[in-house]
Amino acid sequence: MVDTRPAGQGGRGAEAKGYEPNVPITTSPILDWPPKPLSTLRYLLKPVMLPYGICWVALAALVWNFFTPSMQRMATLQPRWILEIYLRNVVLLTLVAGALHWVLYQRRAQAQRYKYNRRWLSTTNRSFLWTNQTRDNIFWCLVSGCGFWAVYESLTMWAYANDIIPSVQWDSAWLYLSALTVGVFLWSVTHFYLNHRLLHVRWFYDHAHYLHHRNVNTGPWSGISMHPFEHVIYFTVFLLWWVVPAHPFIVILTGLFNGLSPAVSHSGFDRVELGKRRGRTTAAGDYFHHLHHRYFECNYGNRPVPIDKLFGTFHDGTPEAHARMKQRMRDRRGNPNTSANGSATR
Ligand SMILES: [Zn+2]
Ligand SMILES: [Zn+2]
Repeated sequence: MVDTRPAGQGGRGAEAKGYEPNVPITTSPILDWPPKPLSTLRYLLKPVMLPYGICWVALAALVWNFFTPSMQRMATLQPRWILEIYLRNVVLLTLVAGALHWVLYQRRAQAQRYKYNRRWLSTTNRSFLWTNQTRDNIFWCLVSGCGFWAVYESLTMWAYANDIIPSVQWDSAWLYLSALTVGVFLWSVTHFYLNHRLLHVRWFYDHAHYLHHRNVNTGPWSGISMHPFEHVIYFTVFLLWWVVPAHPFIVILTGLFNGLSPAVSHSGFDRVELGKRRGRTTAAGDYFHHLHHRYFECNYGNRPVPIDKLFGTFHDGTPEAHARMKQRMRDRRGNPNTSANGSATR
């Protein structure tokens, strides 16, 4: 039978609660006052750089050196090399999201262990293309997501190749570029908070962000499964490098982090088991963002730069935080359909 309900109706997935990690969710002390430089550095090392940050940096180095057209070719806007960048991004996203999906959802190698939502991905929901959540998500990721990712990346590369925007080189500014490498992660999550808050303004939600939120129960392909209009906004993350001097490597890292890491954070599993022996696991899904998909009115940003804490929208997973969120929703509700911050509350 075809399920005609909007995705997540009836508690937005809360009724299908599965695995819950230890709460309260911890966040980076980067915004704490008085400043905590040592704890902040420790947080930047782990979990920001270890294990995944280092992987994205290594992959960016590989991509820049071996899978990017030469600056000479990129000096002239030509469909051929832009297509090469697009196809390279498609292959990379397919490898990351496809591998996670295959292991966790097709082979179901670890069954429901560490899975946030007890349901599997929908194959009968009419709000998804072909009533199939996975196929729908793959379509939006590969056609629109990788497309706009390639457009922003290619235009930035073209601008570098023509000295339209400022750039620096590793041999003369290695310390600056090393700091900028970590800065990519901090900028990306800060930009994510800002663009995400905008997307929860009712007009933007109704015209764009609703598409991503059909995924109450997320899978790896839900990561950058977004409306094309949201992709246009989401990938403005590249535009900082039009004013701040950087390097093509930094641009590629920005693309990889924003294009690929959402596949991991939306995987739907808190941890992925490694090998046959139980107990050996690595971090995967982001419970912080999962709560945003489940409850909608909280956790717009991310843990490395927890701006939600400043604005009172942080949900740390505890019953107390949940009660605060519900009270906030009651306080802000001006009419039955719209909250005071402009968010749709369907
Ligand atoms: Zn949202
Ligand atoms: Zn999401």
